[in-house]
This record gives sequence, C-alpha cells and structure tokens, in this order.
Amino acid sequence: MSQTFNQLRVDVVEEKDDWIGLRIFVDGWPFGPKACVDPADLRESAFGSGKYYILTCGCGTPECADIEDPIIVRYEDRWVIWDCDDRYYPYIADRNDINGDVSPKFIRYRFLWDEYERSVRKALFTLREKIKAKKYEGIAWYGFNPAILDELMPRENEQ
Ligand SMILES: [Zn+2]
Repeated sequence: MSQTFNQLRVDVVEEKDDWIGLRIFVDGWPFGPKACVDPADLRESAFGSGKYYILTCGCGTPECADIEDPIIVRYEDRWVIWDCDDRYYPYIADRNDINGDVSPKFIRYRFLWDEYERSVRKALFTLREKIKAKKYEGIAWYGFNPAILDELMPRENEQ
C-alpha cells in the first residue's frame, strides 16, 4: 500500500510583537499560513467528530479570514479525517490542484488518531507552560481564553 495517511504537526510559535500561538503543518506544509489557529477548536477536534473552525481570523471571526465553512472532522476507527472545502482553504488547493480544475471540492486528510491526539496535546501543553512563564500581548486570536488549556486532554493521565 502507498501512503494512506497524512501527518499533523502543531508548532508553538512566538512572534516579536509578543504574540504566541499555534501553527499547523500537514505533511510538512503550512496549513493556512495566514490564518490563526484556534487552540480551543483544535483541542475539541482531538476528542471526537464535529465541525471545527480550527483556523480563524486573528479577531476570532473565521469569515473575516474568508473561511466560511468549518473543517468537518470525522472519527472512524483509529482515524481522524478532515474534510476541508477548498474554496475556504485555498492554500490547500494550490498545492493539490494538479489538473487545473478550479471547481469546488473537498480536500480530505486522514490522520492516525493516536498521532493526532499526541501532537495536539503536546502543543497545547507547551503553549500552556509558555503562557504561565511569561506575559504575552496576544495569545492565538484576540479574545482567546487560555483557561481551556488547563482542562484535560483525552489521554492526559496516560503519560
Ligand atoms: Zn478578523
């Protein structure tokens, strides 16, 4: 079998204007480099199926960053599957559109839940520790409440 799954990497990034947040990479490529990751929705997506605005605008309103639809996250067996409408996640299409086909389509990513949950948990843990150690001007999107980072992840006690 060829490669049947994608890899999620979540980095904690700090910028010089005292902003701290997350960046997502899928298979090593930046996922939505211009948008902001919402740590709360990303966290929720590690628990189960749903519709999540994992990317949003810096102000917290996804539509403001031209993201009109959430990522549809589905759990199947040990997989976490993302369906992203490429009209709202065009940076994915730029890479995947090899036929010049511009009709709207869904881009599907499949992650192993085990790796997915671990990546998210580690990133949120690092973010939480950094926020506790230093005062930042901005955390993720404007208005994000870091209290969510204190809540347990699915396997928090299984370290
Ligand atoms: Zn905005």
